[in-house]
Amino acid sequence: MKLSINNVCKTYPNGVQALQNVTLEISTGMFGLLGPNGAGKSTLMRTIATLQEADSGSIFLDDIDVLKEKNTIRQLLGYLPQDFGVYPEITAETLLDHIAILKGISNKKERKEIVDGFLNQTNLYSHRKKKLGTFSGGMLQRFGIAQALMGNPKLIIVDEPTAGLDPEERKRFQNLLSEIGENMIVILSTHIVDDVSELCNNMAIIHEGQVLLKGEPMQVISDLNGKIWKKVIEKHELNQYKQNFNVISTNLFSGKIMLHVFTCNSPDPSFVSVDPTLEDVYFSHIKSAKLTQ
Ligand code: ADP
Repeated sequence: MKLSINNVCKTYPNGVQALQNVTLEISTGMFGLLGPNGAGKSTLMRTIATLQEADSGSIFLDDIDVLKEKNTIRQLLGYLPQDFGVYPEITAETLLDHIAILKGISNKKERKEIVDGFLNQTNLYSHRKKKLGTFSGGMLQRFGIAQALMGNPKLIIVDEPTAGLDPEERKRFQNLLSEIGENMIVILSTHIVDDVSELCNNMAIIHEGQVLLKGEPMQVISDLNGKIWKKVIEKHELNQYKQNFNVISTNLFSGKIMLHVFTCNSPDPSFVSVDPTLEDVYFSHIKSAKLTQ
């Protein structure tokens, strides 16, 4: 299976160019769409999910025209939106059963087997009689995956799924995603770099509606070998360093500041060369995009 997104553009009535000639090729497995808030991720996710129109461009799932054959795509799609709302008074089991009916599974026994299967897969079986309004954020997101899996989708879209989850819930959710990502296309839209480095075999960085980079995380990281340098400085020195060096990120470190600088040659002997991470890839591309604006 392959999702081909070609030159997709979208400008909102207020003039915001949310997508500018977005072109991506996405195969089976986990694909990470990484970008800061406002980059255009949800706009692209909603467009693929047939919930809004593009101004121009095309999207194909194999030979199905996503922008035109909306009903066909909806049958192949599982979608966990960013603002996933549920009916708080309904139990997990009842809502999944309703969704299964909507997906056309009319046999009661078959439906129970399917619903129980997804409740088990998402580790929610013991909570099945609880009202959704009592679920934690992590449980709700796992429930969101259970509903997205209903009806055997070939393409799953999850929009910012781990934002707001505590570390343990996030791990559980990541494990669930990596299990389902083996047999279908899963697009994970996120601003959390670690989600992409931990889960995805392919990725793109999007910023202000434009794709800045696409590739395999391992490859794009190794492209930065020998180009990332670190130094710990005092807080008051930061502005001076920002003026003199290509600082791509700063982190607090024992009350001081750890800088990462991107440059092909040693900035000066006081800097130490470090192994690049996906965070370095992300920040260096966002920074150079901002500089060229
Ligand atoms: P992301 O999901 O990466 O945070 P969005 O796709 O939500 O980004 O938004 C991209 C840009 O489009 C932002 O500048 C946002 O303010 C703008 N935007 C999103 N939805 C609308 C809308 N319905 N009307 C006008 N502007 C919008």
